[in-house]
Parts: sequence; structure tokens; C-alpha cells
Amino acid sequence: MRPFAYARPTTFAQALSLLSPTARPKGGGYDLLDLAKRDVATPAILVDLAHVEDDLPLDRIGAGRGAGPPDGPPNSGPEMVSVGARATLAAIAASPLVQEKCPALADAAREAATPQVRNVATAAGNLLQRPRCAYFRDPFFDCRKRGGTTCPAREGVHDEMAIFGNGVCCATHPSNLATALLALGAEVLVVTSVTPKVVNGRAARAAEFFVAPEEDPLREARIAPGELVREVRVPHAPASAYVEVNQKQSYDWASVACAVVLDVRDGKIADARVALGAVAPVPLLSKAAADALRGKSVRDEAAWAAAADAAVVGATPLPRNVHKVRQLRACVGRAVAAAAARSK
Ligand SMILES: Cc1cc2nc3c(=O)[nH]c(=O)nc-3n(C[C@H](O)[C@H](O)[C@H](O)COP(=O)(O)OP(=O)(O)OC[C@H]3O[C@@H](n4cnc5c(N)ncnc54)[C@H](O)[C@@H]3O)c2cc1C
Ligand code: SF4
Repeated sequence: MRPFAYARPTTFAQALSLLSPTARPKGGGYDLLDLAKRDVATPAILVDLAHVEDDLPLDRIGAGRGAGPPDGPPNSGPEMVSVGARATLAAIAASPLVQEKCPALADAAREAATPQVRNVATAAGNLLQRPRCAYFRDPFFDCRKRGGTTCPAREGVHDEMAIFGNGVCCATHPSNLATALLALGAEVLVVTSVTPKVVNGRAARAAEFFVAPEEDPLREARIAPGELVREVRVPHAPASAYVEVNQKQSYDWASVACAVVLDVRDGKIADARVALGAVAPVPLLSKAAADALRGKSVRDEAAWAAAADAAVVGATPLPRNVHKVRQLRACVGRAVAAAAARSK
């Protein structure tokens, strides 16, 4: 591991002023330090966010409001749940507010990793962790995500890799929270600069936050080296669920995952959002699966099955991961059933 300096800012302004392409923010450090030990990340300075205090505590989980229309007053949007960048996965999973208002997010946090990881890993760090591809994490191999020209995973071990959008890079997006937040239509608040009186930033919708390798293979999220995630705002969606299928019950990433949000009125699905996780380099919204549910009774099991079938149409599995198509179909069916069970 290369030597690095360690900074402990106590304000957002200090933290932002320290950041650069070689001075990286540290949340829990699970992914960043893992990459540094392997010489894949080479930070000259680790900027530890553990002691940063904002006007709202960075680990707060509480009631909030959406950003609202561009020409309206700030934060005049609908009621949401606000999850601070430093909230741990364990705190998100255990939050009664998250469990009640957006249970898919609590499911996703609870299903991730291990108790030890969940107690340390932060919301922002989870969203911004890098792919789990073993070739990416070993500098011995060429890899497009490290500026190389080939993808050794295509010819190599790709059993757990992407079955959609896998032409340039077949690594899957590793974040549980990303899948849930996409289905929930969340906003990621990114701070770009801070003055003593003003916090400048932008609210990026989860659907626009993630970057596919076709656009830029070197990053997975639309955030610049000098910016920080401050908060995630999550719309209320009590009829929502996140389900994943794993090889192991713990200590493992999802093989496939699905988050479903249902808007149920008079027993009918007025609207639906179905997000697929661990099957593409970015979490995907399945319009076809949502279309199969819209207008149907929330108890219509044939519609659940139709959504599951629709979700896998267009998959392009690689020779060693055809099984993931079947896994995904089963996972989507279970996630729709779980969300339906939560509808009043
Ligand atoms: C055995 C094991 C199993 C796992 N299983 C799962 C799983 O099933 N699902 C899952 O989702 N994850 C899983 N993980 C991954 C783990 O959840 C992530 O590594 C962790 O969430 C990263 O969070 P962190 O706070 O430690 O991030 P860090 O390592 O601190 O940071 C990750 C990245 O985010 C950046 N960053 C951190 N905070 C901010 C901020 N506020 N603003 C801007 N950038 C920031 C860092 O610079 C870095 O680039 C597993 C990990 C292990 C070890
Ligand atoms: S799958 Fe992506 S991250 Fe893995 S080797 Fe190929 S290009 Fe690199």
C-alpha cells in the first residue's frame, strides 16, 4: 500500500477545499481502502468525513422535502425521507421512518454485506463503491475501467457479471442502495461549494446519477472529484420492496436484485417502477415490467408473472451467466409480490 496523508476536516467547506483528483473523501472506508491496498486507488490524501458537521448532522435520517421546481423556492417539493451521506447501512435498515415510508430502502440496506460492514459503511460510500470485478481489482490485468483497451472478464470468469448492457464492460453495479433509490425515484444532493452563508449544489435524480460504461468507462456516477454527496432524499412509497438472490446469505453481493414501487389506488396498480440490480453496469429501470403491472389488480398474480417475464426480455447473457436470466425472473416476481403485500 502506498503512503498517504490523512485529513480530518470538521466542516463541509474544509472538506471541499481539501478535495482533488488525488485527495479522496473517505466514508466508512470499506471500498476505498480495499482499492488502495490493491494499488487500484492511489489517494495521496484521505479526507475523512467522519468528523464533518453540517447544519444538519451528516448521519441524520429524518423528514425532508424534495428540491421542488427550478423556479420555485428551494426545498418546496413533496415530503421525503432525508438520509444523510454518513448514515450507515445499519442505521438505514433499523430506521422506523425508512421502514414505514420507503421500506424498499430498508430492505436494501438490511440485505447488504454483513453486520460488521453495515455498521461502518455509509450511504454515500455505498452508492459510490467501485465494481466488484476481480479483473478490475487486480492491476495485473488490462481493464477498460482502469483506462485499458480490453475486458478480460468477457473471455474469463464472468458468472456473476452483467446480462444487460455488457458490451463495453460487463461488471455489475454493486450497490444495493442504488437499485432501491432508482425504483424510489430518489434525489442525490451533491455539494459543489460552500461559503459561510451558502451551500451550492445540485439535486441529481437517481435515474441520471449513474453513468454507463458506453458514456464513460472510467466512472460509475456523475460526481466530480471536488464534489461531495451531502444527502439522499427519498419519496414516500410504502408499497415498495427490495428483494435479492445471492449465492450466500451473508458476506456476499447480490447475484440479482429487484426493487419495486407500486402506487395502488382502489386495489389497482395506478403506477409502478421496477428497478433491476446486479444485472448491468448501472441499475436499470424496466419499463416493460412496469407496463405489465400498470392498470392491473394488485393481487393479480398473472400480472406479477407477466412483469417478471417482461423484465428479462432483451437480456444478452454471456456464456457463463445464462443462469442469471432465470434468477432475475424469479427475483422480480418475488419483489412484486413483496411490494403488493405492503399495499393497504
Ligand atoms: C464482504 C462484503 C460484502 C459486501 N456486500 C455488499 C452487498 O451485498 N451490497 C452492497 O451494496 N455492498 C456490499 N459490500 C460493499 C460495501 O457495502 C461498500 O464497500 C460500502 O458500502 C462502502 O461504503 P463506505 O462508506 O465504506 O465507502 P468508502 O469506501 O469510504 O467510499 C467509497 C467511495 O465513495 C466515496 N465517498 C464516500 N463518501 C462520500 C461523500 N459523502 N461524497 C462523495 N464521495 C464519497 C469515496 O471517495 C469512495 O470513492 C460488501 C462489502 C464487503 C466487504
Ligand atoms: S468487466 Fe469491466 S471492470 Fe471487469 S475487466 Fe471488463 S472492463 Fe474491466
